[in-house]
Amino acid sequence: MDADKLETIRAIHDSFDKKQTSVVEVTRYFLDSIKKNGGKSGLNAFLTVCENRVLAKAEAADQILSAEGKVPRDRLPLFGIPLGIKDNLTMDGVRTTCGSKMLDNYVAPYTATCVQRLESAGALCLGKLNMDEFAMGGSNENSAYGPVQHPTQPERVPGGSSGGSAAAVRAGLCVAALGTDTGGSIRLPASYCGIVGLKPTYGRVSRYGLVAFASSLDQVGPMARTVEDAAILLDVMSGHDPRDSTSATVSKGAYREALGKAPETQAEWSGIRIGVPKEYFVGGLSAEVQKSIQSSLRWFESKGARVIPISLPHTEYAVAVYYLIAVSEASSNLARFDGIRYGVRPAEAENADDLAAFYRKVRGHFGPEVKRRIILGTFALSSGYSEAYYRRACQVRRLIKQDFVTAFEKVDFIAGPVSPTTAFKIGERISDPLQMYLNDIFTIPANLAGLPAISIPSGTEAPDSLPIGFHLIAPPFQEERLLSLAHAFEKRGAAR
Ligand code: GLN
Repeated sequence: MDADKLETIRAIHDSFDKKQTSVVEVTRYFLDSIKKNGGKSGLNAFLTVCENRVLAKAEAADQILSAEGKVPRDRLPLFGIPLGIKDNLTMDGVRTTCGSKMLDNYVAPYTATCVQRLESAGALCLGKLNMDEFAMGGSNENSAYGPVQHPTQPERVPGGSSGGSAAAVRAGLCVAALGTDTGGSIRLPASYCGIVGLKPTYGRVSRYGLVAFASSLDQVGPMARTVEDAAILLDVMSGHDPRDSTSATVSKGAYREALGKAPETQAEWSGIRIGVPKEYFVGGLSAEVQKSIQSSLRWFESKGARVIPISLPHTEYAVAVYYLIAVSEASSNLARFDGIRYGVRPAEAENADDLAAFYRKVRGHFGPEVKRRIILGTFALSSGYSEAYYRRACQVRRLIKQDFVTAFEKVDFIAGPVSPTTAFKIGERISDPLQMYLNDIFTIPANLAGLPAISIPSGTEAPDSLPIGFHLIAPPFQEERLLSLAHAFEKRGAAR
């Protein structure tokens, strides 16, 4: 099978229309690729493969194809498209581990709204993707099922926590994937692996069926090879969901359609103002990444857009604020994994002498990073300290949000790096959690402020051609404009 005909939704649909391939053939091709390269002996991107489930759906799709003659794109925009799902999103009857031994044997009894919407639009879910345990991490080294390898440089990390999703998309193990982003977990791995990753506005995509990490920050989003594919996925999965009380009632956009409105003429470009925060170009940013971002900004200028220096003065507090709020919410959310409501319940726990011993046997199944965060979060919320830590952090979060409100009075978008460096080596930073946390400096502010943000491949770093991502942030619910600008940027290679 011709691999480049299987890279995008559009290409696959064309092959179906031309009868060059059947849905079952395409599905088998991806299942074989996963067997060859996606499992433990390869990238370790997939934790569970739903072979029978997905083949049954592919057979049903082939029947629709033969009855209708061509792909029913309008009714089923994801018809026959093989996808991967991060393993913190539930699928009815499918194991959902969250990358944790705590949920090693957990089979979900219902399907997450976003996954259900993808499937109702014709998507074929191949299986569940590896991730940092409970989405806590930025390198995928915190998975209880072993690290994911970078798709082109096996000794390096793919980024995290949606590392399995990014590696699988880049390596051609699925066409696109779902990730989740609490502090950068879609954008960071997308940038390290050279794919597109979109974190929508908080509340744009339902969190129903997403195992909560930090509920006021978590957001589901698409990871794909092209902006168009990310837009198609967002079209399908966004929109209000009464089952998630934080799901936005703001009507959703027409995201794929918006790509046709990407700026083209000089006059259209001159109306676009891109803010560049001076706080995003400070010590720690690698020279290569900085060079790539500057050259992308020059491209925007050459088209006629205005690149305007701005300030987001509270940026320096973002990492501290995030790591107080995220761990506090996590300590509360993860209390349900007690072996009674959720979580493994080993035989030695059954024989425990008292409740404390029972908890120790059960909650010992969390890995070291999750334990560290539960302890930190419990402390930050404890009586006598919650005013000094948690409440303070919430107050500063407000100031960070206000920085963006003020900035967006002067500019339409904010641009900068996604991460200070390109993909680092496996093991290089794992013993220094603080260094790992600081890596999130550019992605975290968009989560704290609830804003949509995207990482788009913008260049590579020599000598290993490690991908660099360009980061664009927009005002709330402006995904249409964000995607259309990203689309124009993505096409620049062809235009140059
Ligand atoms: N790296 C960040 C953390 O460890 C972000 C994780 C995420 O977005 N899920 O918390």
